[in-house]
Amino acid sequence: MHPNPALREQVRSQVEDRPGVYRFFGPGDELLYVGKSVRVRTRLLSYFRAPRGDKAWELAHEASSVAWDYIPNEFAALVREMKLIQRWQPRFNVQHKRRRIYAFVKVTRERAPRLLPVTRVAEDGATYYGPFPRVGALVRTVRELSHVLGLRDCPGSTPIFFGDQLEIFQGHRAPRCMRADLRTCLAPCCGRPSSQDYLHAVDVARRFLEGRAHGPLREVEERMGDAAGRMDFEYAALLRDRLERLRAFRDDLVAFRGRVEDLTFMYRVPGFGGDDRLYLLRRGRIRAVLPYPKGRRARERAARAVEDVYGERDPGPGGLEPEEAAEILLVARWFRLHPKERRRTMSPERWLEERRPA
Ligand code: SF4
Repeated sequence: MHPNPALREQVRSQVEDRPGVYRFFGPGDELLYVGKSVRVRTRLLSYFRAPRGDKAWELAHEASSVAWDYIPNEFAALVREMKLIQRWQPRFNVQHKRRRIYAFVKVTRERAPRLLPVTRVAEDGATYYGPFPRVGALVRTVRELSHVLGLRDCPGSTPIFFGDQLEIFQGHRAPRCMRADLRTCLAPCCGRPSSQDYLHAVDVARRFLEGRAHGPLREVEERMGDAAGRMDFEYAALLRDRLERLRAFRDDLVAFRGRVEDLTFMYRVPGFGGDDRLYLLRRGRIRAVLPYPKGRRARERAARAVEDVYGERDPGPGGLEPEEAAEILLVARWFRLHPKERRRTMSPERWLEERRPA
């Protein structure tokens, strides 16, 4: 027996076999699942044929309604699906999807910010750097980076007192952990650094994560030289290993930036019924989508959009907002899985040269 015959009949009679994104809703309008397909009708009907106990059967059984939007091409459908999943976290997408896990370095938005290794980006005002493929290695590297720069790694609830705050004069505050005595933390829990000094160390970390500065590497190199000078070879060897890990991490950062830089081009995507689209991508982000310009006026409009998107000042590498990270990952994955799609891309300079109306 097929689950949910009424819903199946609705799909059968109303949905067309075109590319699109569909959503299953449960009781109380809970968004249960978001999916995409180049043939929405065929895909939706397959849910009602699924064997009992299958995820698709469960979904069709639990759903009380279904909605769909036609989208002109698979790439656009993929982007729309990703945005909906990211925004609503539908239960069936989250529970049933095995996704490759990436790690990010999160710089928290706190009075004394911390560096944290995380596997999810959230809308919490923090800045995220990454993604990095080696999740396990990142935990150690982030810890070492914090120790080199003197950044705290205690719980977010730890009270913070900077040296330039009045409260500190109301009595001595003892450090809350031994990192203060080991000098691996500037110890803002007991008023040792000024807010300026601590935030300077955070800034050094950000610049390192953006690949703009190598302060932490130099710091470890100097300490290693000092240890060797004191004939403390055991400690020097420990620092050498740390230095190697930080360098490997820096190389990961540089490699990722290179891959993102490489995703700067214009991309023509053929669409259903001739609805071709032109995507303007910069650093892996979709900055604009236009109907593919066919006439002179449309080309003039497109040329203005191209100049707007690629002509604006380049802010350089920086941290990522959550939705930016997800979009870059999606775009990178799309071109990795569909290398032939690169043939539909063109640099903005060449496009302007060839297509700009005379
Ligand atoms: S020394 Fe203080 S600020 Fe630093 S990690 Fe320990 S508790 Fe946190």
